[in-house]
Amino acid sequence: MKIDVLTLFPEMFAPLKMSIIGRAEKKGIVEINAINIRDYSTDKHMKCDDLPYGGGAGMVMTPQPIVDCVRAVDPENKAKRIYMSPKGRTLSVDIAKELAKEENLLFLCGHYEGVDERALEICGFEDLSIGDYVLTGGELASMVVIDALLRFLPGVLGSDASALDESFSEGLLEYPQYTRPVVFEGLEVPDVLLSGHHANIDKWRREQAQELTLRKRPDIIKNDN
Ligand code: SAM
Repeated sequence: MKIDVLTLFPEMFAPLKMSIIGRAEKKGIVEINAINIRDYSTDKHMKCDDLPYGGGAGMVMTPQPIVDCVRAVDPENKAKRIYMSPKGRTLSVDIAKELAKEENLLFLCGHYEGVDERALEICGFEDLSIGDYVLTGGELASMVVIDALLRFLPGVLGSDASALDESFSEGLLEYPQYTRPVVFEGLEVPDVLLSGHHANIDKWRREQAQELTLRKRPDIIKNDN
């Protein structure tokens, strides 16, 4: 998979070079490019923002550098183009899985008061939000989306099954996890997890997941649970 992220702050993408996502890139499963929109500005001062028509606070990102940048990065219009925006549909595990099927993704990160609407229209961007709140820029939001979707790409996680076995994957939150030691500050690992009896362990985990979901997130329970 190839992911291009258009941003005014490419240096913000350093976290994607680390840990699991960084290893996935080294293994060649994904290529992630953070591209500086400013490099495409034809303004003599490389300006990429201006005052909003109609007045109001803040600056708006101008369309020219964005449209030229998109055309340079994706000349054949092959990528699914996503504008990170609080106005979009909200990221979910289903959307992450959907995006993981794409071969080429192009994210646009807004900043300031956002982006001139014409750039979005000309390039055919689809809005995507990470929640009902407003961030200062789309950079962190795009990294959240990239992290969430890459977990569904074969080979990114240690075991391909693990992304399908986690919270939200079956309309349930995950059961509680324990590791060594067996007793920590007087609290013991549940006996069943030490029993080696896989059927009982599965049953206990299912029950725990159901109980936890009912208590914390009853809204996500599906009928077949
Ligand atoms: N004026 C815009 C509005 O009220 O809808 C908000 C602009 S916000 C300060 C700057 C940029 O941050 C946006 O263009 C978008 O790229 C990004 N952003 C902010 N909140 C976001 C969210 N919840 N999800 C995704 N991107 C977000």
